Amino acid sequence: MKKVAISACLLGNKCRYDGRENYDPKLLGLLDGYELVSFCPEEFCFGTPRPTMDLVETDEGIKAISNLTNADLTQPVKAYAQTFFDLNRDISLFIGKDRSPSCGVKSAKLHNREKELLSTEATGIMAQEAIEEGIKAYDAEEYLELRRSSDLSI
Ligand code: SF4
Repeated sequence: MKKVAISACLLGNKCRYDGRENYDPKLLGLLDGYELVSFCPEEFCFGTPRPTMDLVETDEGIKAISNLTNADLTQPVKAYAQTFFDLNRDISLFIGKDRSPSCGVKSAKLHNREKELLSTEATGIMAQEAIEEGIKAYDAEEYLELRRSSDLSI
């Protein structure tokens, strides 16, 4: 059975920053028959509820910066992602929650240090690790559209 890595909030886990979920039964219906392996780097690293963070372009690359403290939170999320993919070598597909600075594949907001919006098509820290592992990665909404409108089989 093919393994799909998927944001835990899409499965109904109340792990969002505000303690809510993003349960998506239509998406999950399309994934019937796959083994779903859930992940939530932010809950693991920072607990729930928690302050939000944003992707920020810096001289050292794109970082996840706390909106409360301005702390750089990139490293714990990255370490979680690396451990996750080390432990799950046979993942065929990554589906991340749209717009998340951790899980969004090409839908996260990117700001500069002055909080100006640079892009709405940035890649979250965990999604970036999936891509670097060579795993096909989609935002949940994009995956749903592709499965509805084409013969994308996974
Ligand atoms: S989008 Fe990712 S980090 Fe945010 S709650 Fe969902 S699984 Fe956790």
